[in-house]
Amino acid sequence: MISDVEMTEATNIKSNLHLVSQQIEALALQYQREAKNVRLLAVSKTKPISALKAAYDAGQRAFGENYAQEAADKHLALSHLTDIEWHFIGPIQSNKSRLIAETMDWVHSVDREKIARRLNEQRSSNLPPLNVCIQINISGEQSKSGILLSELDSMVDLVASLPNLQLRGLMAIPAPQDSHETQCAIYQPLAQAYLELAKSDSMIDTLSIGMSGDLSAAIQSGSTMVRVGTAIFGERDYS
Ligand SMILES: *Cc1c(COP(=O)(O)O)cnc(C)c1O
Repeated sequence: MISDVEMTEATNIKSNLHLVSQQIEALALQYQREAKNVRLLAVSKTKPISALKAAYDAGQRAFGENYAQEAADKHLALSHLTDIEWHFIGPIQSNKSRLIAETMDWVHSVDREKIARRLNEQRSSNLPPLNVCIQINISGEQSKSGILLSELDSMVDLVASLPNLQLRGLMAIPAPQDSHETQCAIYQPLAQAYLELAKSDSMIDTLSIGMSGDLSAAIQSGSTMVRVGTAIFGERDYS
């Protein structure tokens, strides 16, 4: 039996997912993009299994997690739902890379050579290659994560040399800005670097930018995957 609280939670999540999808469609139209080229990643960090299940039942398949142990636990708890796509989007400690390599389908936060090498070694060759985005520290970055754009070429070459990783694109987490224009200006060099990279390699199809607060600037700047937590699952209690 599911409780009344879980029932209300499920109804809210379903309607929020619908609203966010509508918002993405409207923004895509506004900026002359195809809505199908802007995927929605549901960021479920700190949220209970019941919340993920509710989103799944509403049709959501791609989920983003930030903490390796929590991600691995959720992966195990929902392993019967074999069409879920698991994305790791948080900072990676080297002692947690194995959990990530063994359970995730994507990692958006690769920003160190050592981590790329460990993920490659720890990814079983029985599994499909781990899809990887390189995290870039663009100006206004909230944390110290991410490489500089000037370091991108050597990181791309490294990832390309690792057989159990498949490079898919770039990711960034800029600090929220007051205006749409400033947010777009901050995204501009990243968007440019992404387009150049995508030109050189047909497997590169992912620019992972945009969160609940800056969907509009991210979609205008060419985002192909927005990572939305709060607008789907509500405020988080911690982090
Ligand atoms: C938490 C988080 C998100 C989602 O943020 P919201 O503001 O809740 O939409 C997106 N990306 C990363 C890397 C995050 O850590």
